Amino acid sequence: MIYSPAGIYESACYQKSNPAAVLVDTDIITQAPVRFLVSGMGDALATWFEARSCHATQALNECGGRGVSTLSGMNLARLCYDTLLEYGLAAKLAVERQLVTPALERIVEANILLSGIGFESGGLASAHSIHNGLTALEATHAFYHGEKVAFGVLAGLQLTDASPVESAIVYAFCEQVGLPTTLADLGLAGAARTDLMKVAEKACVPGEFIHHEAVEVSPEKVLDAMLAADAMGAYRKRNSA
Ligand SMILES: [Zn+2]
Repeated sequence: MIYSPAGIYESACYQKSNPAAVLVDTDIITQAPVRFLVSGMGDALATWFEARSCHATQALNECGGRGVSTLSGMNLARLCYDTLLEYGLAAKLAVERQLVTPALERIVEANILLSGIGFESGGLASAHSIHNGLTALEATHAFYHGEKVAFGVLAGLQLTDASPVESAIVYAFCEQVGLPTTLADLGLAGAARTDLMKVAEKACVPGEFIHHEAVEVSPEKVLDAMLAADAMGAYRKRNSA
């Protein structure tokens, strides 16, 4: 992704060919801050929901050309989500203690391989556009891509009228591994409505992935979805204390 010098999202740039190899040393990953791994999970969390949205509307995937999702892309995207739910917490705890475990290996596979193939073959939708919108506000620049994407997933579920049961599973996952579930978690406590509207407007510019959703999208709807996601996140924090 390409950002302006001020840290605002500008465009996505894809290479003409895939890498010949991707090498990941899980020993090194356990030496890195756990927030990196968790942020990767936040990005991977979007893969299934965005692929599902693109499949529903036959929106173009991210392979270039005129491609739409494939069975393999859809299934790997789903496997990505299921793997996060199953092994995410264990992988986080392992990295906190600098341990290489099978759970960590599976999350590395989900974060890099399943999410990579899943998004490329499945396509992107509201979560990444809301991420892109959030970069309009400087307060979010201290937060990683995957952290903003995770909140984009929660807002996207509100926007697309996902079932509350499904939504609760995603909140619980985010809470478990430490991904943002409120605007305050992204440095936006008390943000002015006019500023949040800038986020929503940026998320909805023509050509944004959010238009791959089946619902008709407008900045007003996106703003309300973000505020609804924030309200639910805050409610759950209050009631779990
Ligand atoms: Zn991403």
